[in-house]
Amino acid sequence: MAALTENPEKTITDEIERFVSESPGNRQSKIDGSPYFETPLVGYADAHDPLFKEIKKSIGDFYLTPIEILKQSFPEHNTAWVGASVISWVLPIYKSIRKSNRKESRHPSRAWAYTRTYGEEFNNMLRSHIAAFINDRGFPTAAPSLMPLFSVCPTETVGFTSNWSERHAAYVAGLGTFSLSRGLITRKGIAMRCGSVVTGLKLTPTPRVYQDYRQNCLFYNSGTCGKCIARCPAGAISKDGHNKDICMAHLMEIMVMADSYDAAIPGCGLCQTAVPCEAEIPVKVE
Ligand code: SF4
Ligand code: SF4
Repeated sequence: MAALTENPEKTITDEIERFVSESPGNRQSKIDGSPYFETPLVGYADAHDPLFKEIKKSIGDFYLTPIEILKQSFPEHNTAWVGASVISWVLPIYKSIRKSNRKESRHPSRAWAYTRTYGEEFNNMLRSHIAAFINDRGFPTAAPSLMPLFSVCPTETVGFTSNWSERHAAYVAGLGTFSLSRGLITRKGIAMRCGSVVTGLKLTPTPRVYQDYRQNCLFYNSGTCGKCIARCPAGAISKDGHNKDICMAHLMEIMVMADSYDAAIPGCGLCQTAVPCEAEIPVKVE
């Protein structure tokens, strides 16, 4: 069994990459057997990073910091969790799936709907696998999105929201910045799913190479682009940002078609495809 004594960041990154590359769960079994996701990006954050408290302040008391998650998940450990960490990953959506969604103008392609449903099931497998991988090596580890304490709640500040945000965790772990369409633009683009675990294991944080939380979006860094505004069939994106309620109403319209898709949660993702940030950080024209 690979220990987590020397270079644990490499051991964990290798294991995430291995699982994504080898697991049958990462295969489009209903289409052609190609993967849902390409090689992942992995980032690490200090669970005590002050940004988690800032996120709590902006979302509300409902949001749980990593330390609160560890305390609630492992009450038998009477500790301040010094050295605890967050491990975050980005699963870039496979090229043929992105291509299929580019052609759509109102509802997602079948491959995109499968990715949102069955690809996310694989992401859950990865969450469980990595939590078990580290737990088995002696460090208490939990996947917040899979835990009984995970919930979605209406808030006064940001509408319906969950008490753990995979995208915010990825942002703190140096993996990307937020966009006009409220996605996260990573080195592999905005068309991705992300996941995380919180662990008592001490890991070296990944440097955040950005100065601003919206740095990778052309609209915010140079006042250009705005392509996602026209891509949204519901009018949920404007120069003022993303309207969660309008987006949600469109997602509900698509949910009614779940049976015909044979996918419980078809999603949408039109604003993540056929846009300059789809699969990379778009280049700012000076
Ligand atoms: S399409 Fe353009 S404006 Fe919209 S999120 Fe991507 S980079 Fe930003
Ligand atoms: S903002 Fe919502 S409704 Fe609009 S394209 Fe994106 S996911 Fe679809």
